[in-house]
Amino acid sequence: MIYQRSSALFKAAQKVIPGGVNSPVRAFKAVGGDPIFVTQAKGAYLYDEDGNELIDYINSWGPMILGHAYEPVVNAVVEKAKKGTSFGMPTEIETQIAELAVSMVPNIDKIRFVNSGTEACMSAVRLARGFTGKDKIIKFAGCYHGHSDSFLIQAGSGAVTFGSPNSPGVTKGTAQDTLLAKYNDLAHVESIITSNKEEIACIIIEPVAGNMGCIPPVKGFLEGLRDLCDAHNILLIFDEVMTGFRLAKGGAQELLGVNADIVTFGKVIGGGLPVGAFAAREEIMNHLAPLGPIYQAGTLSGNPLAMAAGLAMLTELNKNPRIFKSIADKTEYLHKGVAEVLNKHNVVYTINRLGSMISVHFAEENVVDFDTAALGNNDTFKKFFHGLLDNGIYIAPSAFETWFITEALTYDDLDKTIAAIDKVAGTL
Ligand SMILES: *Cc1c(COP(=O)(O)O)cnc(C)c1O
Repeated sequence: MIYQRSSALFKAAQKVIPGGVNSPVRAFKAVGGDPIFVTQAKGAYLYDEDGNELIDYINSWGPMILGHAYEPVVNAVVEKAKKGTSFGMPTEIETQIAELAVSMVPNIDKIRFVNSGTEACMSAVRLARGFTGKDKIIKFAGCYHGHSDSFLIQAGSGAVTFGSPNSPGVTKGTAQDTLLAKYNDLAHVESIITSNKEEIACIIIEPVAGNMGCIPPVKGFLEGLRDLCDAHNILLIFDEVMTGFRLAKGGAQELLGVNADIVTFGKVIGGGLPVGAFAAREEIMNHLAPLGPIYQAGTLSGNPLAMAAGLAMLTELNKNPRIFKSIADKTEYLHKGVAEVLNKHNVVYTINRLGSMISVHFAEENVVDFDTAALGNNDTFKKFFHGLLDNGIYIAPSAFETWFITEALTYDDLDKTIAAIDKVAGTL
């Protein structure tokens, strides 16, 4: 395929935007080559500046669960926009989407809307610290909770469980309060808690990891975290920015049957507009300003266009909960088809899948945590990515991402994808 215009636009963008992009993974650094500039999208398809049509497996990194330019969402936004785009005053639609979200998700009485997943997770941690009166948090290596300082932490040296900053600009002081644990390793979490008695405010986790490829929790892991939290007066935060309103109406809590104390949302909840949210039981949420002392605010929070998109999206999902089964079935079909053609070409791979989240790892071992995800062969992934792109299939430009299946994908689209993978697998 030809990407002349995209490449020219990328050149221009690089002069005025750092790296030419407003979020780093878009720059194709992990796969090489220039990123593709999009003009529009409809359903399962993206259209780029060079006139190419691509089957989309990113879907804006998750939000477009019903496909691009989904009519009820688009109409809701257009109608709202005609009445003004922001007031900085309360509007009825905020209560409407809050009521709907609270009715769909287990264990939450109140919800506050923010503008991104990052903001949601950052605020949830502040709430947990303020509520428990403790400072430290546990996060898992390879889980992503947005780019706020407390989360940009890598493993410290040697036996030390303190994290160290993994970006310049994050202070040592901040890093010291984040303890890094291994995903799917309950004993490791327990040892961290034991050596930081009475100091840990919360454990934050992606209940199904999606930011190191898809990594489902092993049996008993989330249940074990729940027990540890109960035993040590620690709040359990489920970061459901990716899994919320995707795995089930009630997200991972519902699908996996484990209760969280605080839940964060993003992506699907905004229907493609910039929305995040965090929610909990009343007893916890009532500590937030203006009711309580824990401060959190936002000029554009609860923005009417964003709420209109989110409300339209959640309304569709609430009305048609069979969508969750339908996209999980499509994902299973894709899994089987991809496995078959990779086997045929003797490619070494592991496929992880849960619900409508799936990822192909070019690794032999089971991928259960960040270390095993990192064993994947990135050169193979690069070839795979560009091979698929040449065949009109767009997957995330990094091996550490989940593919998102949407209701707009037809079985014919999936067959085309499997056929393209068959072609590409022969060249890996
Ligand atoms: C995308 C994501 C975030 C960050 O959300 P932004 O809207 O990009 O700030 C946080 N947590 C998880 C699990 C995510 O997938």
